[in-house]
Parts: sequence; structure tokens; C-alpha cells
Amino acid sequence: MLPYNSLPEATAALGRNLTVAETLWFNYSAKKSDYFLFCHNILFLFIIFSLVPLPLIFLEIKRVLPFDKYKIQFNVRLSFKEMFKCYKDVMFMFFFVVGPLQLVSYPSIKMIGISTGLPLPSWWVVLLQLLVYFMIEDYTNYWIHRFLHNKWGYEKIHKVHHEYQAPIGFAAPYAHWAEILILGIPSFLGPAIVPGHMITFWLWIALRQIEAIETHSGYDFPWSLTKYIPFYGGADYHDYHHFVGGQSHSNFASVFTYCDYIYGTDKGYRFQKKLMGMRESTNGTRQNGRSHETNGTNQNGRSHETNGTNRNGRSHEIQDYKTD
Ligand SMILES: [Zn+2]
Ligand SMILES: [Zn+2]
Repeated sequence: MLPYNSLPEATAALGRNLTVAETLWFNYSAKKSDYFLFCHNILFLFIIFSLVPLPLIFLEIKRVLPFDKYKIQFNVRLSFKEMFKCYKDVMFMFFFVVGPLQLVSYPSIKMIGISTGLPLPSWWVVLLQLLVYFMIEDYTNYWIHRFLHNKWGYEKIHKVHHEYQAPIGFAAPYAHWAEILILGIPSFLGPAIVPGHMITFWLWIALRQIEAIETHSGYDFPWSLTKYIPFYGGADYHDYHHFVGGQSHSNFASVFTYCDYIYGTDKGYRFQKKLMGMRESTNGTRQNGRSHETNGTNQNGRSHETNGTNRNGRSHEIQDYKTD
């Protein structure tokens, strides 16, 4: 809640006219509590995860021709029923784990100093803070994710996220409840170290979710704007991690590629890319930049059934480079 009763009062307090963005923020937030503003994040989560993957789901079902060739694991197709089940499972987790976690984490947001007042930060400050958040999240997530690939971590927790050997947008947050809680730490660490405005915090939560949906989309579109972000992993990069599954020792980073490069955990991926490149030049065909490919039919992309075995029987064929 802002400590001004009117726009003239806010103008007098700032000693200048409010910008358009500040006027909009005043009109929206002046009478709303900080707690209510913080809780917008829960609404954003539900909206983003319900709407952003929808075009991808449509592509998956309809196999729209100009776009279908960019499907990474081309032969793996999920039915609408299977995708809807994934959505329902994620929503269940949002409702009973993520939502309550957000509700009770408000005191920590106050403690680290997320502000809701005026003046608003400039756009370049917001962009720099977002970049710092992404880098801190990426680095921390890399090590937690790598840890979750040890025998205990994988079997007890991380296996759930890898049920989708060919991921879809809805599967981005599909994980064991403990993984959701643990991976909340990297997301929170950036704002805790470099606290910003509530708007920056909203943007951070929203962009992180959209990024996760894109990397799990299963499609590698050449026109994606993220292709222009230096060291950005993207869909093909993370898809390979799911493709290899439990045996994966490659591509642990959530956003960028430099951690895997520095710590030598991208060798399997780079080898596959090189192999596909050689095949393309031999066959004279182009594979749309895909680094890995499945063969065979009737694959549904879920690697773990109730009996714990791979439904499509490929779990022992896929190998990856182990570097440690
Ligand atoms: Zn993993
Ligand atoms: Zn994933």
C-alpha cells in the first residue's frame, strides 16, 4: 500500500511528475496491501501454465505441417488425454504445494526488502536485476539438479520429472513435491541477494516459468527470440537431457549453457550434435538442428510406468558421457 492518498501527494513527495508507468502503478496499487500484491504471483503461475503451453498442445495434436518438422523427438507423440493428465497433475501440485508455499513465504519477501512503492526502478535496472536473477538461478539450479542425478536423488525424487522422456510444455513443473520445494531456493536466491521492486519480482517469476515451458516444449523453432540470447540453452538443449533420462550426465543447467561447458557436462550433447551433423551431410538432408532423434513407433514419451520400466524399451540403448 502506498503512503500517498492522491496523485498530487505522490508528485509532491517525489518532487517531479510521475511517469506513465508510475501513474499506472499508483492507480493500481495505492489501496492494495503489499501481501495482496505479492499474492498476484500465484495467479500468474496458474494463468501462465494454463495458457502458454496451449499453442504447443495444439501443434502436438494437430501436427500442423509447417511447424511439425520442428518437433525434436519427432516420433514421440502424446495424446490429448495424456497431456491433460499432466496438466491436472501440475495444477494439483500448484494448488497444494506451490500456492501454499507462496502464501507463507511473504515474511521472507518483506525481510529481504522487495519494495512496492514509488519511484519505480528504471527499465535498465529491471533488466540488469533480471539478468542477475537468471544467472544465480542457473548456477544454483545446475548443482542441485546435478546432485539429484545421483542414485538416491534420482530414485527418490528426480525420477518423477524424467517420466517425460520427450517433454511437453505442461511437464516443465511436473516433479516430485520435494523437488519443487528444493528448486524454489534458486528462484528465491536472486531476489534475496539483489532485492528489487515487486514488479521486477513478478516479471522474474513470470519469465522463469515461460522459459521453463519453452525449454520443455519439445519444439525447436529457428525463429525463437531466445536464439539471440548468448549462451542460452533452449528446447533442444534440455530436451536432450530428458531424452537420455536417468543415465544423463549432460545438460544439467536450466537456462544457459556455460555451466555445463565449464564443468564438462555437455560432452554427450555435443557428441550427438556432431553425429547428427555428420549424418545430415552424408544423407544430404537437414534435421532442423535437432541433436537427437528417436526411432520406432508408438512411443508416448513417458519413460516410467508403474513397474518402473521403460514403456518403449529404449532405456538401455541410450548412453551418455559421464565426466566425473
Ligand atoms: Zn534431470
Ligand atoms: Zn526438465
